[in-house]
Amino acid sequence: MALRLILIGCLVGLLSSSELWAQRCVSQERLAAYLQQHPDAEAARADLENFIQLQQAVQTRSTIDIPVVFHVVWNTAEENISDEQILSQLEVLNRDFRRTNNSAGLIPSLFQSLAADMELNFCLARRSPDGASTNGILRRQTSFPFMGDRIANGRKSVCYTAEGGSDAWDTGRYVNVWVARRQFFPAEASFPGMGAAAEDGIIISPPFVGTTGSAASNQPYHLGRTLTHELGHYFNLYHLWGPGQTGSCTQSDEVADTPLQSRSYLGECPTHPQISCGSADMFMNFMNYTDDACMAMFSNGQKNRVWAAIAAARPGLMLAAQACSPVSVVQAPQQEALFELLQNPTGESLLLRTMAPAGQRFHWQLVSMWGAPLRQGTLLIHAGLQSVDVSGLSAGMYVLRIGGEGVLWSGKVVIE
Ligand SMILES: [Zn+2]
Repeated sequence: MALRLILIGCLVGLLSSSELWAQRCVSQERLAAYLQQHPDAEAARADLENFIQLQQAVQTRSTIDIPVVFHVVWNTAEENISDEQILSQLEVLNRDFRRTNNSAGLIPSLFQSLAADMELNFCLARRSPDGASTNGILRRQTSFPFMGDRIANGRKSVCYTAEGGSDAWDTGRYVNVWVARRQFFPAEASFPGMGAAAEDGIIISPPFVGTTGSAASNQPYHLGRTLTHELGHYFNLYHLWGPGQTGSCTQSDEVADTPLQSRSYLGECPTHPQISCGSADMFMNFMNYTDDACMAMFSNGQKNRVWAAIAAARPGLMLAAQACSPVSVVQAPQQEALFELLQNPTGESLLLRTMAPAGQRFHWQLVSMWGAPLRQGTLLIHAGLQSVDVSGLSAGMYVLRIGGEGVLWSGKVVIE
């Protein structure tokens, strides 16, 4: 009996280690499992997909700055990666998402006109949710050796201070990245509408972050592209080969300008052309499993999909840029005085008094008390009182956020 137990133990051990890095990420599998257990979330994701498919081609828009907070939850000193390693990751993201990556030279002429500047910039947060100064990097030691995979009480431990991890910062306004050692897959990301808000973000194993420190010897995943790929999932992009671990030529990534392909290119750095499903594969796309050095582009179709997903499912990030600026730039008292909410709305609109000069332009967003976005629009300041349309909303408490012109203001709204 004892012998049998030992044999089973060995078998499990072997299976576990053979899974190691058998795929670069596990985000899509996590999404599929989550939707199977949560039919409501599946319906909401279907609505989001419909919205995205109805969006028109990319229009001219201004780049947005998105604040990122890194939670380094470490067990051994080696896992406690340096600020420098994290900064090297930011640099990679800002090159890859702005099409200024050196590897863009690898894009074959067939795909060059499809390569997108995603117009997203990422910064390390310079101010915390409560307005305090920060460098955007939180550190905490944990007693668990594989904190990045740990599940306890049905929750991802790394996302909760009470479970030995680190609580998320407002996931509507910050991209949360937890850096913690993982046993099975290097990384996973939350798709929009997936899982608890407190766990919304990306979990990544330390040597997959950036290009220096422990990343330098982690070839072929030493160039920071794991997080580029995971952010793609976070913004609702699928693998180019579709669901599952290999493609079938019948299932797609829901993006029109990325050709169907039959494999993931895991562990490969191929030369163009690679033909599958009747056409040349865009194997150098960031949403493949290709080696870091051989990834080079997002497509225009993926850009459309990402921006539609931000507008529909992560709109707070469009208003979050202020967290990229050091605290000293904007004086808090000025922000507080900038808008004043006049109570007793007419039932159709909220009225605001402002000291902002006429002609300034702000974004506004009305969210539920739980942070769910309900409405948004643009506020172009004119003389007199400003109004925000709230017609048709049921009685209750809401939060109005106004951002732009270097400020972020919020106020509580009661509709009776
Ligand atoms: Zn992936």
